[in-house]
This record gives sequence, C-alpha cells and structure tokens, in this order.
Amino acid sequence: MYDIVIIGSGFGGLSCGLMLSKEGYKVCILEKNRQIGGSLQIFSKDKTIFDTGIHYIGGLAEGQNLYKVFKYFNILDDLKLKQLDVDGFDRIRLKDDPVFYPHAQGHDNFVRVLSHYFPSEKQNIRSYMDYIIKVCDSFPLYRLQEGEIDLFSSGYLNQNALEVIKSFTNNVKLQQVLAGSNAIYAGVPEKTPFYLHALSVNSYIESSWKCVDGSGQISKLMTDQIKKNGGDIFNYSEAVKFNFDEKKILSVELENGEIIEGKNFISNIDLKKTMAMIEEGKIRSIYRNRINSMENTISAFLLNIVFKPDTVKMVNHNLYYYKIDDLWDATKYDKSKWPESIAMFCPAVTGNNDYAKNMTLMAYMRYDEMELWKDTFRTTPRNKESRGESYEEFKEEKSRKLIDLYTDIDPDVRSKIKSYSASTPLTYRDYIGSTDGNLYGILKDCNDPLKTFITAKTKIPNLYLTGQNMNFHGVLGVAVNAIKTCSEFLGSSYLLSKINHG
Ligand SMILES: Cc1cc2nc3c(=O)[nH]c(=O)nc-3n(C[C@H](O)[C@H](O)[C@H](O)COP(=O)(O)OP(=O)(O)OC[C@H]3O[C@@H](n4cnc5c(N)ncnc54)[C@H](O)[C@@H]3O)c2cc1C
Repeated sequence: MYDIVIIGSGFGGLSCGLMLSKEGYKVCILEKNRQIGGSLQIFSKDKTIFDTGIHYIGGLAEGQNLYKVFKYFNILDDLKLKQLDVDGFDRIRLKDDPVFYPHAQGHDNFVRVLSHYFPSEKQNIRSYMDYIIKVCDSFPLYRLQEGEIDLFSSGYLNQNALEVIKSFTNNVKLQQVLAGSNAIYAGVPEKTPFYLHALSVNSYIESSWKCVDGSGQISKLMTDQIKKNGGDIFNYSEAVKFNFDEKKILSVELENGEIIEGKNFISNIDLKKTMAMIEEGKIRSIYRNRINSMENTISAFLLNIVFKPDTVKMVNHNLYYYKIDDLWDATKYDKSKWPESIAMFCPAVTGNNDYAKNMTLMAYMRYDEMELWKDTFRTTPRNKESRGESYEEFKEEKSRKLIDLYTDIDPDVRSKIKSYSASTPLTYRDYIGSTDGNLYGILKDCNDPLKTFITAKTKIPNLYLTGQNMNFHGVLGVAVNAIKTCSEFLGSSYLLSKINHG
C-alpha cells in the first residue's frame, strides 16, 4: 500500500515522485517502458547518443526558476550542462533571406542583439520584451511565487500570439523573427495564446542550456534521489485500469495482471489514455467527453544523423529554418511540399567540441500521414511489431527530403553523413504513449482558454494529474505543473518556501 502511486515516469511523474518522497510520502512510479524518463529518454545509434524529446532547457542559471527546482531536487551539482551561445542560442532563417537572425540570452541582450538587424525597430523590440516579462509576472507559479492567475479577469489567456506580436511592429520580417522558434510550442495562428509564447521563449531568453551527453542524465539523477528517499520505480509496468470502490480508486492494475494498491494516484500519462483507464460511471461523462474532444498538438518526424569524424563544425545554437512565406503556416504544411520548415539541434558531447558528432532535424508531421501503419504497435521495447517494408520506404523518402532541405544551410551535408535513423509520429505514440504522437499534449486555444485549462485535481477524489497535458509543457512547464500537483498534498506555501529557500 503506497501513499502515492504515479503512472508514468516522464519528467512530471519523476518530479512528483521526487518532491513527495522527499517530504515523507511512500511513493511508487510505474513505467511501461524499459527506460525511465518519457521524453527524457535517450538512445544510441552508431555509438552516438541522441535525445528524443528534450533538446534544450531554459531557466537554469543561478537563481532562475528551474535552477531552484533542480537544486531542491538535489540533482543540480551532478548535472553536466553546456550553455548555448549567449548572443544567439536560437537562430532564425527565413525564406529567401540568407541572414541567421539571433535570439540572444538576457532580456536586454536580446533587444540589443536583434536591434542590430532592425535598427529602426529597437523601441518596438524593447516594448515586446517588456510585455513578455509582464505576462510572465502574471503567472505567479512560473516565478515560483504563491498565487494563481485570475482566470476570469486576466485578459492574458485570450490574447492571440500572432496578433500580439504583430501589435508591436509593422515590420513583417521582424514579426516572423520574433515568432521564429514557435516550434517549441507548435504554434497555430488562430489558436495559440500569447501567454504560451511568452512563458516558453522567456525561459530560454533567461538562459539556455543543453545536457551534455543527453537529457537521460536528468532521469537517472532523479531516479537515484527517489530511491534514496525510499520510493520505488518499476519499469515494464504498464498500467491498464483503475480499480474502484464506490467513488475512490483502490488500486491500479498492470498489463501483467499485477495490482498496485495506493491511497492516492497521480497520472502522468496522456489525458485521453487516463480517461480510458476509468470505467464508465466512475467519472462524469461531461468531464470525460470534454477531455476526449480536446485537440492535440501536431506530431513530428525526426531525423537523427551521425556525421563522419571531423567533417561538420560544431555549432552551439539551434536553428529554425522556414521555406514558406509565413512561418505560422508551418503546422498546416502541404504534403506535396513537405518539409517546409525544420528545427536543427546539435547535441553537446563530452570531449572534443570542435566538430559535431551528430545532429537532429525535426519537421512537423501530422498523424494522418501514418494511416497505413496506424494499427501496428511497438508499445514497449519488448513488443516490437513490424510495420513492414512500406514504412521503412516512407521513412527513407522523408529522410532524404529533410536532408535536401538542409542543403540550403550546408550544401555539402550529404557527403558528411555516416548514417541516419528516423522517428515518426508512431514512434512517439508508442514510446511515450501520447495519442497521435503529439508533441506537447493538448493544443491550447486562446478563443476558449478555459476549455483546455486542466486542474491537477480531478472529479475522482484521490486521482490527480500532472505532466505536459496540464497547462504548460516542456521541462519548465512540467516542473511548474508538478509543483501544482504536489501542492495538493504538501500545500503550496510550504512547498514553494522549500524550493525557494531550501
Ligand atoms: C520531439 C520533442 C522535442 C521536444 N523538445 C523539447 C525541448 O527541447 N525542451 C523542452 O523543455 N521540452 C521539449 N519537449 C517537450 C517535453 O519533452 C515534454 O513537455 C515533457 O518531457 C513531457 O513530460 P511529461 O511529464 O508530460 O511526460 P512524458 O515525457 O510524456 O512521459 C510519459 C511517460 O508515461 C509512460 N506511460 C505512458 N502510458 C503508460 C502506462 N499506461 N503505464 C505506465 N507508463 C506509461 C510513458 O512511457 C512515458 O515514459 C519536446 C517534446 C518532443 C516530443
């Protein structure tokens, strides 16, 4: 009998497990995969380590929000991190324009560096940055402060990202550059709220980091801490069903028939999958229908490339490249023209950093492109159903197209490639367990913000939610959500004071 049973060992599940075990709760985490960590998982190809879902992290400089959280987790001292280029951690390249526009770290530095490319827009860039800071300040938990954004009277939730950015400048190129990293939240022009843009870009503008040799070190360090605190973590343990008494959950049933009993349950998995674990009649159908009708963010195709030794100069920044007129149309790409945009991430590795060992190219891909193979499943590394030749051919064709697009950046890239492998929306669907392989959970909609507003407490008295399906995604967002979930047990004032003051 555990105090808390957590389903899923993504960063959200691990964060809840760590905080609650540290504060004396008997915790158990159930993970369906062999590897712990969800999107923190890494894999190795050609003796080279690749990240799967965390390519860079913000807010980790001393005193910043994630720094304080990681310090409280007691993992900061052992983390191997590398700071990205201060004067351009992200670079944006637009169609028919050879310039790599930099997003710099530090609010003033961001304004200074970008103004160099848009001298007459300096004041507008300053106003945009001031507004980013103001919006972030209105979300107290983001600043690790007590309090809630006022959902009803705050106008921020309804503001559209594209419209707000446009309101700062009439310069269309600058509008695009300011939104240039919108793949970090899979921006959709008519829906994405400005607050999501602000919270996401601000954390990287505060400071931007890569995990050296992969983000898997975060899950490893967190696992060690949870075990040290007396917590249990079980891999190969897929939860399939909650067992109830009249109203409360008594236990969770695993795929192998094992039963894990607990007083409280936290779900870190896809919301719709959580609903599927609850039998009819145990949760109001209006709530279930609301969850099941929510639109997900788009998925992606990722190409992981290993380079021949000493052929590609290491870059210490990420690149967002668009071959379309308006980057806000990237998620609505025309299949016949795919890929029209890419994000490039160059992992940090121990040792010689003059040359890059590897690189990941990411392009949006809709789940409907998986129609032919959607009924094949590789739900755990132990269950690897073949998707057939046609799937391999599809991946090969798409990989070649991505490399073709990247020749706009490096015309000789083909001759430098040693090997590559690709992942599709099905990879993410099966390894992370997200419906449709979505990148960042539920799509937030500024036209109806409360519809996609998910609280940690559910209508079942001892079932709580955490992870990216709550209100904010990414490492920082999921940490904030986990604090919210754990505050239900520990009280927010106690927990925040521990995080802020140790
Ligand atoms: C391609 C990609 C790139 C990204 N890049 C970045 C980035 O650079 N920086 C950043 O901050 N964020 C990035 N993100 C977002 C970030 O990775 C996620 O927001 C965050 O990691 C999600 O954490 P989570 O706690 O919601 O759990 P998830 O990572 O979604 O993990 C859920 C876990 O639950 C397990 N699970 C599912 N079903 C069951 C079950 N029935 N029983 C037991 N276990 C189950 C899964 O196997 C998985 O381990 C990226 C995401 C993707 C997909």
